[in-house]
Amino acid sequence: MQPICHFTVSFLEPGSHVYHMTLDIDHLPSGRHELSLPVWTPGAYKVADCSRHLFDLSATSGPQALEVVHVAKNRWLLETTMEGPVQIRYNVYAFEFGVSTSHLDQSHAYFNGAQLFLLTDDYKDIPYYLTLEKPPAWEVSTGLDLDNTGRGQYQAPDYDVLIDSPFEVGTQSISTFEVDDKKHTLAVYGHGNENLAQLTHDAEQIVRAQKQIFGSLPYEHYTFILHLSDKPTGGLEHLNSTTCGVERFMFRPWKNYKRVLGLLSHEFFHLWNVKRIHPDMLGPFDYNKEVYTRLLWAMEGFTDYYAYLTLRRSNLYSVQDYLTTLSKKLVDYEKRPGRFVQSLAESSLDTWIKLYNPDEDSVNRTISYYLKGELVGTCLDLEIRRRTKNQASLDDVLRKLYERYGSRGLGFPESVYQDTVEEVGNSSFQDFFDHYINGTRPIPIDEALLSAGLRIERQYKRLPEDDDENTAETPQTSQVPYPWLGIDTKVVDGHRIVITQTYTSGPAATLLNAGDQLIALNDYQLHQPKDLKHRLQYDQQVGDTVTLTFFRQGRLHTLPVVLAPQPFDKVGIRPCEDSNPLQRHIFESWLNASWNDHFTSGDDAWNQTE
Ligand SMILES: [Zn+2]
Repeated sequence: MQPICHFTVSFLEPGSHVYHMTLDIDHLPSGRHELSLPVWTPGAYKVADCSRHLFDLSATSGPQALEVVHVAKNRWLLETTMEGPVQIRYNVYAFEFGVSTSHLDQSHAYFNGAQLFLLTDDYKDIPYYLTLEKPPAWEVSTGLDLDNTGRGQYQAPDYDVLIDSPFEVGTQSISTFEVDDKKHTLAVYGHGNENLAQLTHDAEQIVRAQKQIFGSLPYEHYTFILHLSDKPTGGLEHLNSTTCGVERFMFRPWKNYKRVLGLLSHEFFHLWNVKRIHPDMLGPFDYNKEVYTRLLWAMEGFTDYYAYLTLRRSNLYSVQDYLTTLSKKLVDYEKRPGRFVQSLAESSLDTWIKLYNPDEDSVNRTISYYLKGELVGTCLDLEIRRRTKNQASLDDVLRKLYERYGSRGLGFPESVYQDTVEEVGNSSFQDFFDHYINGTRPIPIDEALLSAGLRIERQYKRLPEDDDENTAETPQTSQVPYPWLGIDTKVVDGHRIVITQTYTSGPAATLLNAGDQLIALNDYQLHQPKDLKHRLQYDQQVGDTVTLTFFRQGRLHTLPVVLAPQPFDKVGIRPCEDSNPLQRHIFESWLNASWNDHFTSGDDAWNQTE
């Protein structure tokens, strides 16, 4: 007989920030048993050592106390002499507000299973039951199913689903909508300038647009948990829910709200891409250590690609919104020296020590698999469309992977990804994978967009000549680069200008260091970072030598730097005047938009503004 595990999570005094946990196990065989808590949460590729907040663990079998030996940071051993019920009790301190963490205070309870639920031995494939002891007025929002066996309030078919189902419990605002007779719940914790009716409408459009790709919704119900607080906390995907955390006043104006929609769209798309379509390392999970894959560019980067593409296809984003977002990503990518050092495959493999642990050198040695992955998704989709004369696309790759693996609960060997691209594209993509995924060649974004009749103009933002306050916020563009030191700075203590990173592609790479405090340019004091930018742009030329004075570890230095040209920081994406029918056809099916509606002759200004 298999053991039956029932957790009780008690938080009747939420101000204590402590979850009181009880695990009742029936039919646990006699012998030595191991209890373990995950060291990471799936989707957050970082060792978080969830057990650091666990304390007061004890075990009993009937009236008898059992000895529990703590043998490793996340593991405990206990021994039973006969089969029977065992009760494990422990507490978990939870005061870390984030999407992949757990938080408990006077306003709500939010928890992720990785922080709360001990695994007994290797019993991952048995059902789990769950009961909450909560303040009576608090409502529950979760993707987990209600229990229908009478054992608890909620049930999970296995440990993975238990860990994959966060709970939001409190006085959150709740709204619902239905797609395909399936209930979708929006649970919003916190307030700001949100418009719940608008958000509900837009979430429904996202669900409908993404369903178009796969044909149906592979769940019975779905829950969006949205945290509104003073800081953005990102998003985390689950099988039939997500938690997203955004700054509370992000709902107006549109330029902010469209980022909220981008996050929701990204996390929702994950229910297919990574939660169901994934390499075999990403499920079932090993919770005890890092799991390594070279495919996070496809799991995360392509999810970002589809997040924005489906926002466009649903008309939540205009064509201009879509191309503006794409152009900003291109600026970020091309400015980053690390794109010549780290491949997408390496970025994925090393995420555990690099992407989630950035430092002052990251810009020079690493590339984000989100950023480059999205751009490579654009290139790959348009290349498949070009080669097949728009008879196939990246959508077909994802559909095939879903049909063959995802819908059957299977992971795939990593080589399957390229095989499937080549099957759909009906040709070899060996060079594409060698150059842009396993290698560091600049991505062929110009050629890709040309397939859809679009051309890229690389430009430079220029501060306005007129220093009038009204125009200061709208930089003009120029074809001529302005002088550049190749550093980023921040203001510390309200007045100190401190270098945060130097670019290996810049003129000061071997002269200035992160941490140097800039004092003066050409012997005149710098009061704020804006002074540096203004004086370089208005008073200097590329090729000029300037003198910089700075403190390094408390000692004053002065040295000359020869100014280099600034990398472009503004991209325009415009229609080709001589586009052919195939290019226009690709554009229209790619973005679900009419070419003629967007590009009337003589109208070339549509992508000039934010
Ligand atoms: Zn993601």
